[in-house]
Amino acid sequence: MIKLKSKEDIDILKEGGKRNAEILRLLAGMVRPGLSTLDLEQAAAQLLEEQGDKSATLGYTPAGARRPYPANLCVSINEEIVHGIPNEDPKILKEGDIVTIDLSMVHKGLFTDSALTVAVGEIDEGSRKLVTATRTALEKGIARALPGKRMGDISEAIQDHAEAAGFNVAEDLAGHGVGFALHEDPFVPNEGKAGQGPLLKPGMVIAIEPMLCAGKGAIKVLKDGYTIVTKDSSRSAHFEHTVAITETGNIILTS
Ligand code: MG
Repeated sequence: MIKLKSKEDIDILKEGGKRNAEILRLLAGMVRPGLSTLDLEQAAAQLLEEQGDKSATLGYTPAGARRPYPANLCVSINEEIVHGIPNEDPKILKEGDIVTIDLSMVHKGLFTDSALTVAVGEIDEGSRKLVTATRTALEKGIARALPGKRMGDISEAIQDHAEAAGFNVAEDLAGHGVGFALHEDPFVPNEGKAGQGPLLKPGMVIAIEPMLCAGKGAIKVLKDGYTIVTKDSSRSAHFEHTVAITETGNIILTS
């Protein structure tokens, strides 16, 4: 069931989204060769504590998971698409890597979710194109997130942009409703057809999150039960914003 948010809810989500975005901005600014994923996790924990907010992922057990997620942050490098764990077997970032930082946060009881992919030093041309195409796919999706449109309008815009740029969207991974919980209805798929799926209505709050792969979009889950990688080990990028549909358009809450 899709739960619509009130004006008051959206005001809280705006403030939460601003805080979520600010932490991500600071973490992205730390990225350089030699930084460890644990450094990012510890910085996130400290920044959340300073502003009196909580990570939505730390201790969260998603449907089907064997154990609670152990970190404040997801940090996914190169062929890792999402849900890389930064504080178990921490990894050192290397020149030429791409790293996705994904933070979902609870502010005054309401949830926001945002992610971005950052270059570690100088990256190759193919990776640069992948990162740019993923960021643009998110913008194209958001441009369709309007009252009266359907979910498939967003999905199609993302898929079309990904494929036109020579990439594939990661299979079986989608965005989601967010706000009262980290994952709510509806699904926000990264592939689909315009005119199909749920009608977009004012008060809907959704996390739109294209995940593009340089190779085929097939995925697998690593033994840790969380880290999702491309099956063919090709690189992947991921950008995400929490977006509220309004009477007249939308608000990017995590910008
Ligand atoms: Mg998400």
